[in-house]
Amino acid sequence: MSKVTILAHNGRPGPEEALMGGGENWHTRSGAEALLALHSVTDGLSTSEAARRLEIEGENKIAGGNGPNPFGIFLAQFTSLMIWVLIAAGALSGIMGQLTDALAIMAVVLLHALVGFYQEYSAENSIAALKKLTSPQAKVKRGGVVLAIPASAVVSGDILVLEAGDLVAADARLLSASSITCSEAALTGESGVVEKHAAKLERSGIPLAERSNMIFMGTAIASGSGRAVVVGTAMNTQLGRIAALIQRADARAATPLQKKLDAVGRMLVWATLGIVVTLFLLGLWRGTPLLELVLTSVSLAVAAVPEGLPAVVTVALSIGVTRMARRGALVRRLSAVETLGSTNVICTDKTGTLTVGEMTVKALYVAGQAYEVTGEGYGSDGRVLLAGSDPARGQRAALLMLGTALVGCNNAHIASHSGLSTLVGDPTEGALLAAGIKAGADRANIDVTMPQLRELPFDSDRKRSAVVRKVSDDLCRVLINGAPGPLLALSTHIFGRNGVQALSDEDRVAIRSEISGMAKQGLRVLGSAYRDVTLILAETGNVAALERELVFVGLAGMYDPPRTEAKLSIAKCRDAGIRVIMITGDHPETASAIASEVGIVSATAPMTGENLDGMSDEKLAVIAPEIAVYARVTAEHKFRIVRALQVGGKNVVAMTGDGVNDAPAIKGADIGIAMGKSGTEVTRQAADVILVDDNFQTIVAAVEQGRGIYDNIRKTLQYLLAGNAGELMLMGVCVFAGLPAPLLPIHLLWINLVTDGLPALCLAGDPIDKDVMKRGPRPNSENIMDASFLIGMMITGMLTGGVALAVYVVTLQSHPVAVARTYAFTVLVFAELLRAFGARSTIRPVWQIALFTNRNLVFVVALSVGLQVWSQHNDILGTFLKSTSVPAADCLGLLLAGCVPLAAIELIKVVRGWPRRGKPLVS
Ligand code: ADP
Ligand code: MG
Repeated sequence: MSKVTILAHNGRPGPEEALMGGGENWHTRSGAEALLALHSVTDGLSTSEAARRLEIEGENKIAGGNGPNPFGIFLAQFTSLMIWVLIAAGALSGIMGQLTDALAIMAVVLLHALVGFYQEYSAENSIAALKKLTSPQAKVKRGGVVLAIPASAVVSGDILVLEAGDLVAADARLLSASSITCSEAALTGESGVVEKHAAKLERSGIPLAERSNMIFMGTAIASGSGRAVVVGTAMNTQLGRIAALIQRADARAATPLQKKLDAVGRMLVWATLGIVVTLFLLGLWRGTPLLELVLTSVSLAVAAVPEGLPAVVTVALSIGVTRMARRGALVRRLSAVETLGSTNVICTDKTGTLTVGEMTVKALYVAGQAYEVTGEGYGSDGRVLLAGSDPARGQRAALLMLGTALVGCNNAHIASHSGLSTLVGDPTEGALLAAGIKAGADRANIDVTMPQLRELPFDSDRKRSAVVRKVSDDLCRVLINGAPGPLLALSTHIFGRNGVQALSDEDRVAIRSEISGMAKQGLRVLGSAYRDVTLILAETGNVAALERELVFVGLAGMYDPPRTEAKLSIAKCRDAGIRVIMITGDHPETASAIASEVGIVSATAPMTGENLDGMSDEKLAVIAPEIAVYARVTAEHKFRIVRALQVGGKNVVAMTGDGVNDAPAIKGADIGIAMGKSGTEVTRQAADVILVDDNFQTIVAAVEQGRGIYDNIRKTLQYLLAGNAGELMLMGVCVFAGLPAPLLPIHLLWINLVTDGLPALCLAGDPIDKDVMKRGPRPNSENIMDASFLIGMMITGMLTGGVALAVYVVTLQSHPVAVARTYAFTVLVFAELLRAFGARSTIRPVWQIALFTNRNLVFVVALSVGLQVWSQHNDILGTFLKSTSVPAADCLGLLLAGCVPLAAIELIKVVRGWPRRGKPLVS
């Protein structure tokens, strides 16, 4: 293996010297030696030193995957066959002496490339911006302060601060480790976790998998916490060496819709070419001059082949990405926008998503006595009361024991500034901390008399956290807070009025009824317990050995109010035909209480994790459609629930998650949603969507956008294809009837550019219809080009082509063919442009759509109409577009004629709408 190289730092002895004999064997050094070699300390590098190293070492990134390259995107515009056919046609006209034609064709080719470039470049840019927003973060200690920085800014010598759910940002040597396990599947392909520790290893040159004091870039911390010093970044990591092997989620991978449209597009190309070749042969038979025939055929092919179909989808989806980002939903894959639109089941967390996530303990229970707790938020200005008055002396001792457990097993900090208390840490722990203080516990005192020895951090499978504190030389106390049911099951004793005594069956019954009483009021109930152990057990025992034979202390019931907007969002989902399922690790009765507060109606009692354990996947798939609330579930249950809902392919399931263990469920769901605030890095990187604010409302807003974007894609396609059909029909009929071609090549190309390119782009970015959430979800099997799409497209195409044909034939009676062509050309352009306004909705007539909600469209149409009129009076433009001058009165007449297709389509909408008035809109 190659040697780790770390660049020398400006004349100072560089850490590379320390590396000389040691090679990569960081695991054979002690933590202190590693720090020394890397010129770092436990408080971390100074910010200036870190900046300097970043300068020298470069960004901590695996090479490859650069941002959009404008030049490359521009060149890519010339890779389509159609463009080359056009260029050849232009060259051909040049050789034959038709210089204007040649120039005009070249100009159009260039404009085409520019429009294509603009579309693609802006789409690429919005994806790149998003990638940056959702790129991984790392926690490092610099200058003694813990900072969250982009993983790309990590340098060697940085101190990583590690917690369960973190992605390891670089290769590092552990300095301290508290029950750390690591999932190294990204590196070794082995599922399952590896235990890690900070101690020095003796043997050098052992396989990576055995270097148990090292952690590697790209792997994930599955549990525990610790510190580590970075020994290698970017390509100097194990991951960097096997960069080719890492699977990178490609944000630009073709979406299902794009793939489908690619196929449709290919079919249309052949169909169009078939028609064009037929027309070509027909012209040949009629004796049309060859050059004219070739140019017309080529132009017709270029005009009618929908080469821009996939581009429209990309543009519409990337507009969707930008809009969703503005609403607080960061989309990590383009295809997620599309899938969001067909989502019909949303499985959501409770705490923090449906609720505010700010908790206050309202009730305590200890030694058989229930207390009321006053005060709001995390301030300490509340009190613990018994029936309205202060507790008596004997009761205060029990309260103090409960308070000690609440405060002693707690990582939250409450900072007070001018009377305002702000929380740093987990809201649950913040609430417990505030309550413990109100119950009489003093954190500073606890830290002095019982220094913290170890921590067994919270995980959603155990549903509790524990801290081991040292009471005396050989006695330690494990303090535990967590879900009360399991805690009670692990308890053998109780801290009662007269001290510790055996836990009787009556005690259990009393505690259980207290838990359910609190839960019924919508309170989230946590229990506290402790256990005294020897120092040896405290230092070496695993979770199972420490969390058993507990002394049960008491309960804390906290209130976390539902978000007011959650209720509205859930009602919106109901109208939109979307099922909302609450999945929580909380107690069933609390879950029920909150569910009914936010309006999730459940016919059955909550399904609990225990019930799920005894149930087969087949049975679950059968009953899953009936269940609205799941309680006491673990991450594994979430995964099974997603699978059960997906059976039969009827449902498109969105699933939220925050913990490390939620990653499989999030990956398995059609739309995996990670929490931006409370979620871990691992979940974030597994998700399709990240919620900046953890709010349920944001999910619903994203679904709404997804539906609107789909509508936009559909209507833009219909608009484009209808135009193409119209042109083909116009040209075809004339050739069959033996009339001279109504449109010259430059006309066809101009129409393709002016009416297809820009208005289509504006339609793709249309604001979404306010009623998208008042109809049912689109079945995910739905074909975007269904019968109603095709019928609408044909009618519109026929109308547009028909009007141009009529104008052409009538004008031809009394005018030279050049004039007739100009008129046909003009009316076709007018008709197409005006039709764009009607295309904004397939159900709403134009007068019900506010015109200026799509300013771009108004601008583009006005500009194109202006250019058209100008070309009738300006010699240069007239020569370019081969049009004659048109008297004002005639021009007005043509404009009116151009309104006919629009008017007809609007009439159809009105008539079709009659029987459905008042019913939900279906397009
Ligand atoms: P949810 O977010 O759906 O309410 P979680 O999976 O986050 O559920 O938590 C499940 C249970 O774990 C909670 O009901 C509570 O009993 C317990 N719990 C949650 N957070 C903590 C914590 N920080 N410390 C101890 N126990 C906790
Ligand atoms: Mg939670």
